[in-house]
Amino acid sequence: MALSILVSGCARNEHRGGDSARTPPVRPSILLVTLDTTRADAVGPSARGVETPAFNALAARGRLFSRAYATVPETLPSHASMMTGLYPAGHGLHENARTLDPALPLLAERLQSAGYETAAFVSSFVLARRFGLGRGFEIYDDVEQAERTARETTDRAIEHLERAAQKPRLLWVHYFDAHAPYAPPEPFRSRYAKNPYLGEVAEVDQQLGRLVEAFERTAKGPIAILVAGDHGEGLGDHGESQHGNLAYESTMRVPFVLVGPDVPTGVVDTPVSVRRIFHTVLGLAGLESAPGLQGAASPEVVLGEAMKPFLSYGWQPQVMAVEGAQKVISAGRNEVYDLVADPGEAKDLAGTVTPSRAIRTALTDYPIPAPGAARAPSNLGEEDRKKLASLGYVSAGAAPVVRKDAPRPIDMVRLFGVMEKASGLFVRGEYRQVIPLFEKIRAEDPHNLDAVLRLATAHSALGNDAPALRMFEKARELAPESADVRTYLALHLAKGNRWEEAAPMLEKSEAEDPGRMPVLEALARVRERQGRAREAIATWQRIHSLRQPSGAELVRLGVLAMSVQETALALQSFETARGLQGAGFANDLELGVLLLASRRYEDARLALDRVKAAHPGYPMALFKRAQLSVLLREADQAARIELARKRADATTRELIARERLFQNPEARPQ
Ligand SMILES: [Zn+2]
Repeated sequence: MALSILVSGCARNEHRGGDSARTPPVRPSILLVTLDTTRADAVGPSARGVETPAFNALAARGRLFSRAYATVPETLPSHASMMTGLYPAGHGLHENARTLDPALPLLAERLQSAGYETAAFVSSFVLARRFGLGRGFEIYDDVEQAERTARETTDRAIEHLERAAQKPRLLWVHYFDAHAPYAPPEPFRSRYAKNPYLGEVAEVDQQLGRLVEAFERTAKGPIAILVAGDHGEGLGDHGESQHGNLAYESTMRVPFVLVGPDVPTGVVDTPVSVRRIFHTVLGLAGLESAPGLQGAASPEVVLGEAMKPFLSYGWQPQVMAVEGAQKVISAGRNEVYDLVADPGEAKDLAGTVTPSRAIRTALTDYPIPAPGAARAPSNLGEEDRKKLASLGYVSAGAAPVVRKDAPRPIDMVRLFGVMEKASGLFVRGEYRQVIPLFEKIRAEDPHNLDAVLRLATAHSALGNDAPALRMFEKARELAPESADVRTYLALHLAKGNRWEEAAPMLEKSEAEDPGRMPVLEALARVRERQGRAREAIATWQRIHSLRQPSGAELVRLGVLAMSVQETALALQSFETARGLQGAGFANDLELGVLLLASRRYEDARLALDRVKAAHPGYPMALFKRAQLSVLLREADQAARIELARKRADATTRELIARERLFQNPEARPQ
């Protein structure tokens, strides 16, 4: 195929650094819109079965890249490539729910320091600030719920645009609607009743139109607009319903249009990577460091990867390379396609066609992520994981193990649905339902560590000790060196009568990977059972510095602190627990005793008066209350001493007999 660029590259660019001393550059305001989960064939003038007038209007006045590629068919790593200009091996993110290296320079930082007003409005938790893309944006309007609609995000972005800007703007808006589940609002729901996915795309396009109109209306100087997909959607192609597991055109090829001053119009069919958005925006802002896509699109091998099956299940790592018409997907072996003759990638030419030298070199050089290198950030709580699961993103429980018999993802398509279902149920804690699903996966892929380990964990959670141990044993056979296997086994042992074996394992896990919440919690309990109260206290305090403690945990800490005479800590723990538990607080006796010892007599009186007669420590409460009565010079002290005597048990009878306050009430100390 001819690498025809239907438009010539532009030679003239008044924003280049050279002559900026004479003519101060007029820097354009830049709008970047990313369309989540949008297939290249679902939007634009050649899309079938859907109307996208707003995108088409941009294509008519700008440069449409008909063969743009995502670097990863997942939201966060794909956006990370756009914001850093790097492939995943460069920025280190291969999956969602990881955190970007804080040392990597980001596009918005560059523009902000060059005097741009920067703002971002994103629509999914997957892009929340905590994952690292917010740096350099003065406003980073993210969401902590799973997602928000394009209309809502547009409303907020327009509200921002209506505020006058003194400087040129960089505005990034991300739309998430096309992501599953597909539930477009009216009128798109009815209009696209047969294809709700396209209905979502059409709805997003309508919001894109509103956004572009507002951006142009409020801009002071020249403008540039970039609209790109972050990845596509399988919709059943090659057996994949959504995205992330395979590297075919349906999920890797994305829409991409560029409008700007000096940007020629027309269609470019040279393959390009969306990572070049980084260089293109820098170029538009006059900060060019590498050629962007506003100039001639010079041919290169465009790369991409889909590592989720490798990172989650230990299957073959999967890399894609495109040069001209040729595309190779490398996963254990190469598949070779001619995209001009066979855009649906139905005919693998591997037996007859040799990949180009450039593609072969690029694939050989492509770095495969080290297993275990990327772990979910420990600041991701249970609720966050559930949110991600609700979007279909469930990362593996364990780092992958490279194995000789690793299957190719495309040969395991029949399991994708089962795995997604099982992983989702697992995160939601539906352990009874996940067991048959993971058993099915294990039957088809017996060396799948993730499935074995999750089976073991599910049995453990359900209290099925024998099958849990059997699965942990299998996991150990599959991955004798795996720290994850040791950790999950230790968590299981810590719950049962073999808890003493768990102690050294938990200590090792905590030393190797500090701050993992379940490990710390199990370790605190094990130390309590070992009678190492001070170490247990230190561990609980560490846990509470990482997350909010519950009332029950504070009670536990209070009891521990009392056992080693840490009165101040005990008092503080019980008082905070009472604040959290309200009427459910059942430790007024301990609280009263501690308050009395701290000479906070009024508070002690209130606490002791709350102890119910049915409380097993009621005789102690009466004894302490009588002491207080004397100390507070209450009128009924004699009656209270009498009551304490009458209701005394073995413990308090002796204490009362020896209590000096009771022997001569009139001569009590002041
Ligand atoms: Zn996405």
